[in-house]
Amino acid sequence: MLHRRAAIGGLFCLACAGFGPAATRPAQAADPVAKTTLTPNQALARLLEGNQRFVADNPMQPALGSPRRHELAVGQAPFATVIGCADSRTPPESLFGAGLGEIFTTRVAGNTIPAASLGSVAYSVDVLGSPLILVLGHERCGAVAAAVEVVTKGARLPDVLQPMVEPILGAVTAVRGRGGDLLDNAVRENALVGARRLRRHPAFAAKVRAGTLMVAAARYDLDDGKVEILEG
Ligand SMILES: [Zn+2]
Repeated sequence: MLHRRAAIGGLFCLACAGFGPAATRPAQAADPVAKTTLTPNQALARLLEGNQRFVADNPMQPALGSPRRHELAVGQAPFATVIGCADSRTPPESLFGAGLGEIFTTRVAGNTIPAASLGSVAYSVDVLGSPLILVLGHERCGAVAAAVEVVTKGARLPDVLQPMVEPILGAVTAVRGRGGDLLDNAVRENALVGARRLRRHPAFAAKVRAGTLMVAAARYDLDDGKVEILEG
């Protein structure tokens, strides 16, 4: 137990990092890696520029070598936080041409935000200084397709899959009566629901109101490689 506690303390200390009551915080040392100075809009523009180059087969050349690795060995300051799908075709670093230390990601099939992911995102924003959260859905998402099957056909999923699909059911139900492609409408709605939930969440709402944090929703197109901003 002692070892486990020490390991957790060494990973990061929430109270030291600003999550705890002010009275319990010790004096903070300077960040070993300076936080980004990008505004939320600039951070979003940088992601989209990287995506445009990805689409054009002229990808960014992010720093991945040992000098950058050594720089980051003592800290990190990602300029964006992406909540993506676990789908192997949608790695945010590739879609946006980002290198080490640039994007903080959580990836669960269906780009949902379970409690542990929510805490991870809060860490990225509050401690690491990320000014942008992007909830990134994608075309023909298998997890959303499974949710569509449950809502429209009463499909019964194996127990192990249910926690993955349950958070998506509301988005499918919300767009069920709309015209057009139900799966794609649900992909869009699911990303929008996630972003709206984060904007309202007490961990982020004040920063969003102050304009120091943007929470955007987007859809990645598997065919043409483009990331489309749905709401920002
Ligand atoms: Zn997916």
